[in-house]
Amino acid sequence: MATQFPLTSFEGLRTPFYYYDLDLLRKTLEIIRNEARKQRVVVHYAVKANANPRILSHVQMAGLGADCVSGGEIRAALQTGFSSDKIVFAGVGKADWEINLALDHDIFCFNVESLPELEVINSLAAAKSKVARVALRINPDVQADTHHYIRTGSKENKFGINLSDLENIVESARAMSHINLVGIHFHIGSQITEMNNFAGLAARVNEIQDRLTALHWIPEHVNLGGGLGIDYHHPDEASIPDFADYFATLRRMLKLRPDQTLHVEPGRSVVGQCGSLIARVLYVKQASEKQFAILDAGMTELIRPALYQAYHKIEHISAAPAAPVQKYDVVGPICESSDCFGKEVDLPLVKRGDFIAIRSAGAYGEIMSSNYNCRPNPASYFSDDLH
Ligand SMILES: *Cc1c(COP(=O)(O)O)cnc(C)c1O
Repeated sequence: MATQFPLTSFEGLRTPFYYYDLDLLRKTLEIIRNEARKQRVVVHYAVKANANPRILSHVQMAGLGADCVSGGEIRAALQTGFSSDKIVFAGVGKADWEINLALDHDIFCFNVESLPELEVINSLAAAKSKVARVALRINPDVQADTHHYIRTGSKENKFGINLSDLENIVESARAMSHINLVGIHFHIGSQITEMNNFAGLAARVNEIQDRLTALHWIPEHVNLGGGLGIDYHHPDEASIPDFADYFATLRRMLKLRPDQTLHVEPGRSVVGQCGSLIARVLYVKQASEKQFAILDAGMTELIRPALYQAYHKIEHISAAPAAPVQKYDVVGPICESSDCFGKEVDLPLVKRGDFIAIRSAGAYGEIMSSNYNCRPNPASYFSDDLH
């Protein structure tokens, strides 16, 4: 599905802003829902990818649950209408108020990352005479083929419980009176496009399940986290990730015990392709060997290129027909050299006032925007409202 940009409506809007293609989002959610039903997978959307209220509301209406990593995200999910028994709460550093909030709302499950955290949840639950449902986040020690800043499942990462501590922590958890151990949880990283990474995770989980069986524990659910990548190079041709293949791979590789349910937590793959950052060109600057297209959007609106050297496709969406193609370094106005969206990008001739779309910015875009340089938050517009 190709996103169409309503340029005439854009004319009247102050740039930069986020533009969301809701037809694409709806279609993506429909596919997720159908494939998940077919393959019997329970899906919790990772709210951290994009918590725009309107996006959250579409995700909620599609029947997905929410994967939250903070009290603020739990509040956002509840306000959107996610039912609390579809909310999971992850994160290495849950504060007491966040744990209490989750206990007060009887969320589906805490994904717990350490023994000290487990002890705190046990005592806070005891104080409320509640029993917390807990899944243990285990670090499976597998490598994912992705940027090292977004890789989380190898043993040098801060995330999860070490495999060598598995038996001890399971025994401790089972001895705690206000903990109900219901699941195991994994998340190996983000923007993973090679299915064999997920197959490798599933194989490791099978070994772990055997160790748990030896302890006479069969978790009710196995949560494999998120991480399915999107095609940043082909936002229109590959607008919807292959959820059928993803779910089928997990199902095929994972040896689930009878009655065990499989859960996943996709973020990027749900919302990544439906969003674009729309900017205008402020200046075209010639410099010895180069020319720069200086935009009114920068790393404050979309930090991924500066933070992870991430690629985003840059399109000149108001180009004159048959304009000659030239090379531009496309940069933002922020006082940082890393504030650059792309080097030597081929674009049809660019001039002041032209519209540029930075594609595949629906995930980890708007939500990571900052007020550095005292810049205001970007606005967001939706395809349903602009024609
Ligand atoms: C970030 C995160 C996700 C979502 O990752 P995506 O790559 O956006 O799918 C899911 N689960 C956990 C625990 C996470 O930290």
